[in-house]
Amino acid sequence: MKEGIIIKSTGNLYTVKCGNEPYITCRIKGKFRLEDFQATNPVAVGDKVAFYIDIDEKTGIITEIFERKNHIIRKSTNLSKQTQILAANIDQSILLVTMDFPVTSTVFIDRFIASAEAYNIPVILIFNKIDLYSDKNMDEMQNLINIYSNIGYQSISLSTKNQENLDEIKILLKDKTTLISGHSGVGKSTLINRLEPGLNLKTAEISTAHNTGKHITTFAEMHEFSFGGYIIDTPGIRGFGLTMMEKEELYHFFREIFEISAKCQYYNCTHIHEPGCAVKEAVSKNIIAESRYHSYTSIYLNKDEKYR
Ligand code: GDP
Ligand code: ZN
Repeated sequence: MKEGIIIKSTGNLYTVKCGNEPYITCRIKGKFRLEDFQATNPVAVGDKVAFYIDIDEKTGIITEIFERKNHIIRKSTNLSKQTQILAANIDQSILLVTMDFPVTSTVFIDRFIASAEAYNIPVILIFNKIDLYSDKNMDEMQNLINIYSNIGYQSISLSTKNQENLDEIKILLKDKTTLISGHSGVGKSTLINRLEPGLNLKTAEISTAHNTGKHITTFAEMHEFSFGGYIIDTPGIRGFGLTMMEKEELYHFFREIFEISAKCQYYNCTHIHEPGCAVKEAVSKNIIAESRYHSYTSIYLNKDEKYR
């Protein structure tokens, strides 16, 4: 019996890495006991598995999935309760954002952060394409870097074009499994290619008409860094949503709001309309950033769709 890690999954076949051996294609035999939800796929990238080599001596047969440290899911497109496991055993996540080309809204950033908090996955914000920024973009970025650093999220600026700050990012990624996300066209593939030139991921020319990129990535796939560690490229940020979260607990995932909420007059304060709300008071005193509170209320009131 061998042990390995799932690098890629396409339908019924899985690419598995085992030590320093060449990747092995594996299949699943038998049924696996699933967790408390109905997943359409029993195994996802990042899963650690046990397998043996079949008598044909080419394919592996997966017999066991080891307990996951965490996993992220998305709801299947149909209306059933089925979910798809996107990835497992994630150490940290990077949200790649751009102030322009394309615009990333703060609601989008905060929705991602709240989801990551719900999954207990640390977030690093990387502001890319600074070579293209106007003075106004630079000011806006600095403002956001201040806001997010103050509440404990590491925030870095980057130009994959000029290789600025790339070494710092390599240090953060080394020996970890990192999920990377962000709008199409922000430079995810370009960044991964810079970090690991051998990978040659397809990059998309962004269409200037709408400042949005074209979708190329469709399946979650894990790429191995030669300097140690993995990066998981996710097909769409929307998939990494707040699917498991009750509206009433949303504020738990806005860490500075959660912290101050202990001082609200009502224990079940929603921080929207109640008197004696310590959160609203903190916003009026600029202790909590207006944009963060705006994201909270937008998501709470389900009005954030237009901020995508
Ligand atoms: P993805 O959809 O997030 O994977 O984005 P891509 O990596 O395909 O990048 C979209 C476009 O932005 C490509 O044309 C890249 O060359 C370009 N790009 C990526 N990073 C930068 C950067 O830092 N500066 C500039 N000027 N262009 C960049
Ligand atoms: Zn309150």
